[in-house]
Amino acid sequence: MEKYIESIFGELKELTQEGKVADYIPALGNANPNNLGIGIYDNNGNYFSFGDDEVKFTIQSISKPLVLLLALIELGEEAVFDKVGMEPTGDPFNSIIRLETFDKRKPLNPLINAGAISVVSLINGKDNIERIEKILNFIRLLADNENINVDTSVFLSEKVTGDRNRSMIYFLKSIGNINGNVDEILDLYFMQCAIKANCRDLARIGLVLANRGYDPVRQEQIIPKRPVQIINAMMTTCGMYDESGEFAVKVGIPAKSGVGGGILCAVPRQYGIGVYGPSLDKKGNSIAGFKLLEALSNAFDLSIF
Ligand code: GLU
Repeated sequence: MEKYIESIFGELKELTQEGKVADYIPALGNANPNNLGIGIYDNNGNYFSFGDDEVKFTIQSISKPLVLLLALIELGEEAVFDKVGMEPTGDPFNSIIRLETFDKRKPLNPLINAGAISVVSLINGKDNIERIEKILNFIRLLADNENINVDTSVFLSEKVTGDRNRSMIYFLKSIGNINGNVDEILDLYFMQCAIKANCRDLARIGLVLANRGYDPVRQEQIIPKRPVQIINAMMTTCGMYDESGEFAVKVGIPAKSGVGGGILCAVPRQYGIGVYGPSLDKKGNSIAGFKLLEALSNAFDLSIF
């Protein structure tokens, strides 16, 4: 696999010229559009990487399945899915249209912004310091890396510009979907999105997800199996925005992307993969990252279907 990636990497790197770095959160606009990196952990715990795999970026929407996982472990399936549905939308991640038309009580799924805001509102803690510490510690556990933190400048950049998310949370409050202080919950959501990681971290987390909560490196069950199965299913159906169907057909791996340019992938019982390429297509997915995963999936028969 290493040789294969090496042979196609140059060509794929050209694709970083296409697309655009997200800048609706101004601080994300500082990313280098030419970056492309991939990190892969296999089930024996071997790691290999190419390109800009050490570059740190904010995980943005990749935080959504991870906070969902934490909420499922803490509160259980029933409590979580009382607040959020399980169905893909086919709409952009920040769309508000179906909040009123589909189900008048809850967002369609936990991986769109409205659903993720609803999920993070469930995380208990005496204040946001305690809550974000809990989220960070959970992600540190999954990534087996103590050095995972929030990028304060990206957090603040989204806090001052995130009006659409602000509108969403007020709507959610008006329909009784969330309790609590809207500013506090929104801050927590922006903080979870601004958590920094690199390809290696994503690959490491992917490996744990690929093994339903068992970590082949530490050789122990880190988290229970059932919540991992749930988030893997959600990632398969809703993980790549309104390109999830195309990604399922062309790549066929449970995955979650973020507008920071990252993609987290879990190839069941085989690999955890982290990709970084901040030049995005119109739907918000890394252009070169998508193609790289497509090539890998085809060459090594990685599709789960
Ligand atoms: N913080 C971003 C937002 O809410 C996350 C979007 C994403 O990565 O899809 O707009």
